[in-house]
Amino acid sequence: MNCLFVTSEAFPLIKTGGLADVAGSLPRALLQLDQDVRIILPAYRSVMQQVAAASEIASTHHYGHSIRVLQTRLPGTRVQVLLVDCPAAFDRPGNPYVDDSGDPWSDNAFRFALFNQVVVDVALNRLAFDWPVDIVHCNDWQSGLAPALLTQFSERPATLFTIHNMAYQGLFDKQSYFDLGLPMSLWHLNGVEFHDLFSFIKGGLSYADCINTVSSQYALEIQTPEFGYGLADLLQYRADRLFGILNGIDTEVWNPGRDEQLVQKYNRRTLDQKADNKRALQRYFGLTDDASLPLFGMISRLVEQKGLEIILQAMPALAKMPLQMVFLGSGQTQYETALRDLATTYPDRIGVTIGYDEQLSHRIEAGCDAYLMPSMFEPCGLNQLYSLRYGTIPLVTRVGGLADSVRDYSRPPANGFIMPDFTSKSLVATVRRTIDVFHHPQRWRELQLNAMAEDHSWKNSAREYLQLYQKAVELQGQ
Ligand code: ADP
Repeated sequence: MNCLFVTSEAFPLIKTGGLADVAGSLPRALLQLDQDVRIILPAYRSVMQQVAAASEIASTHHYGHSIRVLQTRLPGTRVQVLLVDCPAAFDRPGNPYVDDSGDPWSDNAFRFALFNQVVVDVALNRLAFDWPVDIVHCNDWQSGLAPALLTQFSERPATLFTIHNMAYQGLFDKQSYFDLGLPMSLWHLNGVEFHDLFSFIKGGLSYADCINTVSSQYALEIQTPEFGYGLADLLQYRADRLFGILNGIDTEVWNPGRDEQLVQKYNRRTLDQKADNKRALQRYFGLTDDASLPLFGMISRLVEQKGLEIILQAMPALAKMPLQMVFLGSGQTQYETALRDLATTYPDRIGVTIGYDEQLSHRIEAGCDAYLMPSMFEPCGLNQLYSLRYGTIPLVTRVGGLADSVRDYSRPPANGFIMPDFTSKSLVATVRRTIDVFHHPQRWRELQLNAMAEDHSWKNSAREYLQLYQKAVELQGQ
């Protein structure tokens, strides 16, 4: 199949979260299944700085702007990437979605509408290069408009819309919809309108031939009011087209046996060498160099979703326990400040780095004994999967992809610890349980070996995506 993979981020070119990891690895896995997959991505300034060899293969016009379509490859792979180069929309510094103060770019509706218009041009094979598309695979709200726009054409490829996070919906005022000259026929309750607002995500949810999310559990959860963000009814209505496929991980980038970012590589047979990474991490953060203290890690966007509230509430109790903790993240100011304060109060027990640091994230995965992921909701979650591969035992809530990938210690063959509830009390109790098992080296080793033996590569999930592409083609327009 010819698959146009539409995404607003792709590792290693641009990454703010899990979508980038998926976009950086699923297309490659599909290529290995002999599918012709091409990524289409906005040509942000930071992307352009990394791809010196991009060549122009087509041009188009939208909203009074000339737009070039450039072609390059995803670094380190054979995957082709089409870059939508419109400087007025994408040539600016920093984050793809928010400005320096953390507020969404004020022209996001325009920027991503323009991106979706070019996606439609490519999907309909209207541009200078001849590449007939079978399936357009859209991801998250930034590409939600394309499935809606494509329904306007009788001859069109099939569409799949993947939800990586329902909490981000791409909502804009009604006027912006009209200003962008978008079709009136899509502006209604069962279309892109959401309580008188323009909803990008509804474009995907209402109009894609198939929808999926990144774990089976999350596919069920988003059909409930608690996790559906006002769209549970729509998702229930489309339940026969809604599927769950757990993300895989890039087992080349995340491989403790070959990870060049680590102080010491290790695998299941040389697991004792993991201790060198722990020692190095303790030294890096200035913590007491003590192998007998369990070291908990967390790498995350610092937002409420990731359980920051309950972690901070639990801190007085956690700080009294025989443990160490390291955090790497950036996000909401109040969480950044609270974590920095904790590191100042407990310099030998708690280490904090605020910022984004790819290498440190690998070193935390390798150097910690356990990984904290007490999310309020988690569509799939990748760090628990990286942790499993690195023999770093995940401690998680029973939601979304965490529920689909972590099995509690009480239920062998276990690979982690599950908090019964999303509360600070439950977090403290589960950390206590984790520490208990940590002090039984044989039991801990068994957990680690179970975790490291699991296969979370994209091989299986990519096959499931291919089946879903076929289903979308069958169901197209029905
Ligand atoms: P989400 O997409 O909700 O942020 P995921 O667990 O799906 O959560 O993916 C997050 C990805 O971003 C992981 O690869 C994680 O390691 C990475 N990440 C998050 N914050 C940082 C950071 N501060 N530094 C390095 N990597 C980070």
